[in-house]
Amino acid sequence: RPRVSARIAGITPSATLAVDAKAKALKAEGRPVIGFGAGQPDFPTPDHVVEAAAAAVHDRSNHGYTAAAGLPELREAIAAKTLRDSGFQCAASQVLVTNGGKQAVYSAFATLLDPGDEVLLLAPYWTTYPESITLAGGVPVQVTADESTGYRVTVDQLEAARTERTKVLLFNSPSNPTGAVYPREQVEAIGRWAAEHDIWVITDEIYEHLVYDDVKAESLPAVVPEMADRTLILNGVAKTYSMTGWRVGWIVGPQDVIKAAASFQSHLCGNVANISQRAALAAVAGPLDVVHEMREAFDARRRRIVSLLSEIPGVECPTPEGAFYAYPSVKAVLGKEIRGQRPKDTVELADLILREAEVAVVPGEAFGTPGYFRFSYALAEKDLVEGVTRVADLLAEAR
Ligand code: PLP
Repeated sequence: RPRVSARIAGITPSATLAVDAKAKALKAEGRPVIGFGAGQPDFPTPDHVVEAAAAAVHDRSNHGYTAAAGLPELREAIAAKTLRDSGFQCAASQVLVTNGGKQAVYSAFATLLDPGDEVLLLAPYWTTYPESITLAGGVPVQVTADESTGYRVTVDQLEAARTERTKVLLFNSPSNPTGAVYPREQVEAIGRWAAEHDIWVITDEIYEHLVYDDVKAESLPAVVPEMADRTLILNGVAKTYSMTGWRVGWIVGPQDVIKAAASFQSHLCGNVANISQRAALAAVAGPLDVVHEMREAFDARRRRIVSLLSEIPGVECPTPEGAFYAYPSVKAVLGKEIRGQRPKDTVELADLILREAEVAVVPGEAFGTPGYFRFSYALAEKDLVEGVTRVADLLAEAR
């Protein structure tokens, strides 16, 4: 018998973490690597959050377990924040606090899916989604959009992919990896289509506050209220408050589903670290001005990276409207000769760029769409300019 179960052996390791690890290893050897791989803001966690956590550590009443579904005060604050930011009204009992948005993704699928249930997965997708769906026994059905539509799928495409087994549509706007944001009319059309066909929606809103140019991230169950009873909203503090390492996320959904997911969580991990929940409470109940400052900084870098990438021959970069990623197509460069090599796909080209230009980018293969690179612009502007310039200089050699 195999030592590792087929279920776990079948997981593809996270490609974004792999690129980051390669870049870190080169850096440790003293190489001047510039990394565009990281999916985390490069700002410190806000002071008032750190102070709340420090006070919580010294208060011994925070040293025990909390309820599996989370601290009651935090669940209340998340319900209030959901109304403030998404315009969606819910009770504290409709909130489950999870170990980061990642666990919210897995728990949502584990709670909704039976073996063979199909999930419409909009591509380019975040690397973790298909693995979570498969682990939970579901079948990911990829629906792909390219740069010609700003990486947004249409209802016609969804309808063409729908079968008797379709149970869930996974929606993520603003998107990782493309930064695409669906406008209200499109969210409404997709929500109505889901309602008509009794399809559940899992909507990942983790980048809701990182939107630019007066664009607004719309929350599907607020736009289409009849979907409220069949939608799970996923969110967390990682991206909004620069709290990736604190590991707090959540699911908002109908009470029966949240109760079931909380029962699962009570066996899976008990509860999220009490101190982290206190920190998250300070974050979600606190002001958004620090968030707006981070957004300004990201916006300046966004403009810079899009303009630099667009100048490279063979690179096509739609302007992302949200998150902190640019997702250019480099299809025109593939198959050409660069420094004696002819990369045939973006995995090979990313490897060549890391070796020859000492710049780390994540190949589109990690997001279900070969032919693209994801550049995270969560790095200092000076490094951003230096990194893209190195890539431009290398690709200029393509013949
Ligand atoms: N959802 C999306 C789209 C993400 O990009 C991420 C992080 O990269 C997450 C969820 C989960 O974030 P975390 O587990 O750090 O809260």
